[in-house]
Amino acid sequence: MKIKLKNPIVEMDGDEMARVIWRIIKEKLLLPFLDMEIKYFDLGIINRDATEDRVTIEAAEAIKAYGVGVKCATITPNAERVREFNLKKAWPSPNATIRAILDGTVFRKPIMVKNIPPLVKTWKKPIIIGRHAYGDIYKSAEAMIEGNALVELKITHDDGSEKIIPVHRFNGSGIVMAIHNLDSSIRSFARACINYAIDQRVDIWFGAKDTISKTYHGRFRDIFREEIEAKKEEIEKAGIHYRYMLIDDAVAQVLKSEGGMLWACMNYDGDVMSDMIATGFGSLGMMTSVLVSPDGRFEYEAAHGTVVRHYRQYLRGEPTSTNPVASIFAWTGALRKRGELDGTEEVIAFADRLERAVIETIESGIMTKDLVALAEPGPERYVFTEEFMEAVKQRLTASSQ
Ligand code: NAP
Ligand code: MG
Repeated sequence: MKIKLKNPIVEMDGDEMARVIWRIIKEKLLLPFLDMEIKYFDLGIINRDATEDRVTIEAAEAIKAYGVGVKCATITPNAERVREFNLKKAWPSPNATIRAILDGTVFRKPIMVKNIPPLVKTWKKPIIIGRHAYGDIYKSAEAMIEGNALVELKITHDDGSEKIIPVHRFNGSGIVMAIHNLDSSIRSFARACINYAIDQRVDIWFGAKDTISKTYHGRFRDIFREEIEAKKEEIEKAGIHYRYMLIDDAVAQVLKSEGGMLWACMNYDGDVMSDMIATGFGSLGMMTSVLVSPDGRFEYEAAHGTVVRHYRQYLRGEPTSTNPVASIFAWTGALRKRGELDGTEEVIAFADRLERAVIETIESGIMTKDLVALAEPGPERYVFTEEFMEAVKQRLTASSQ
């Protein structure tokens, strides 16, 4: 008998190799076991172009309505892609569109298996990165200064009052940049981090450089502190702790730690550190990602892209050894959350069983090419994507009886 979901899951299909894998996951590992209503949105580049990207907005609205979504990797078109698919224009990144509508924060968490040790010996548990995805240098105004110049920052309030802050007196050429952030955005970020940490029962670490940037970074520190105070009881009940550190101290502490915390990062720190953490834990094929909105909507996906090099191989009719683990975990994340929100234990148990089947398959020495070089002991050979999925399916079927 199939396990029934009480409420729908919003599914967003994607592009290239990720889309190929996505279909196999559904056919082999989900549909035979689950009776679920899916709200399907095709975010493949062809359909985004045909709908003038309305489909992305509709998908985001559906996540708002139903609470849980799962997304396949999609192409973010650049000029080359516009030519390749003859697109009407370079549509914006679907992830950015969805994030803007849900006002969410992205958390990236590596999947750990016993036979793939992290590069850092002390790391025993996943280090989760929460990246504030608004403002700072990603929404800046910058200029080259050619020759001598006085640069000032002028603030004109709506009531007409003005404030002028000297930036620098240039005696020669140079550069200048102005950045900003919003209390509301920082607050949403802090709330999403706290919700996620309570949900996952992990400590929260936050680092900034408030000794140097007393106003800008100091504001981040203060808003975080206020939000932590506001949720004090829930945080205590969850048995988790909050630590504020200077960002350089945080980097050192993370490296020396055994992991198992949420590391909340300002935008630039999150950009840089998430690549460091991903490499430290192994393959991009093992990195999951979830967008959490401050009002408790969840969208799960793999952190990697459409794996275009493998797709070209696939189109030539060659088998590929693409790692489907992060995409499978996107589904299990969504299913578990659906089960938690609906109070359906069987759905949560299925997500657990599928994750265990994946982890045990890798720990038994069956893995895709990207993992072979990282595994200790390394297996004699790697398997193709379909073989890997079949091995997972066998374990899942055995554990479902
Ligand atoms: P990518 O798809 O993440 O792949 C980069 C490389 O990482 C691959 O060529 C492959 O290395 C390795 N890799 C990534 N995922 C893997 C997996 N599951 N199994 C095995 N190896 C894996 O990044 P990209 O090639 O830079 O981007 C391709 C497209 O994806 C772009 O159009 C981009 O816009 C899009 N993208 C989408 C998202 C998203 O939707 N969230 C995120 C990032 C990028 P080898 O080739 O060495 O095997
Ligand atoms: Mg980066």
